[in-house]
Amino acid sequence: MANSIRYFVGNWKMFGVPSSYSIIEKFESHFRKDKKNNKKYKIIIAPPHTLLQDFSQKFKYKKISISAQNCHYKDNFGAHTGHISPYMISKLGVKYIILGHSENRASGDTDSIIKQKVELALKNNFVVIFCIGENKLEKRKNRTLNVLKKQLHNVLNKKLNEKNIIIAYEPVWSIGTGKLPTSAELAHSINYIKSNLSKIFKKRIPPVLYGGSVDSNSIYLFKNISVIDGFLIGGASKSPKNFIDIIKNFYK
Ligand code: PEP
Repeated sequence: MANSIRYFVGNWKMFGVPSSYSIIEKFESHFRKDKKNNKKYKIIIAPPHTLLQDFSQKFKYKKISISAQNCHYKDNFGAHTGHISPYMISKLGVKYIILGHSENRASGDTDSIIKQKVELALKNNFVVIFCIGENKLEKRKNRTLNVLKKQLHNVLNKKLNEKNIIIAYEPVWSIGTGKLPTSAELAHSINYIKSNLSKIFKKRIPPVLYGGSVDSNSIYLFKNISVIDGFLIGGASKSPKNFIDIIKNFYK
């Protein structure tokens, strides 16, 4: 069974300027009008670091939450040119952070670095959206479940506060490609992730989102997979119409 609240998380990646807050205002406006369903879901948007201070202030008393997309893995302050720490981000009033995204894994984030990031972010009271997922070759070699297990167990352990963790299952081969897992494959992978989470955390299983080419059409495929607790959405989260249509079609 899915947790009761569903998450619609938008990952803007390297997109957005100060005036882009108007996109999030449209999400906010849809949310407020959607009286029939809006108690069933939460919207979180992750703009780039350059916009975190401005947007977290603008949306401080609103319904949409703002998330960071990444952080450095050690120290509050230090000799790490071009990087920012979870401590620094927390001082902007940001509560969520995406960690372990495959694009960051591709540019050097190992499980060990991601583990340090997750621990430091949790210490700074963030809710961590921890991304895992197999790549094309791993899928072709039928290694999906092994990869998911390794990524989960290399980073998570029972000492972490599971209440502040959300998992995003993002098959790398599906991100930005329009390629989707079948419903059976997806349900199988999510159930497998949940069974591993229940071994790690015992008491409460963190929600598990799906990410990879979610749009207003593909959402129809996912809406009947009850074990999915929400979605991490890249490309389609930059357009008010696309993102709002995903939510509308999910609850249609
Ligand atoms: C992502 O980058 O996290 C993602 C899911 O992208 P897209 O929705 O564009 O596939």
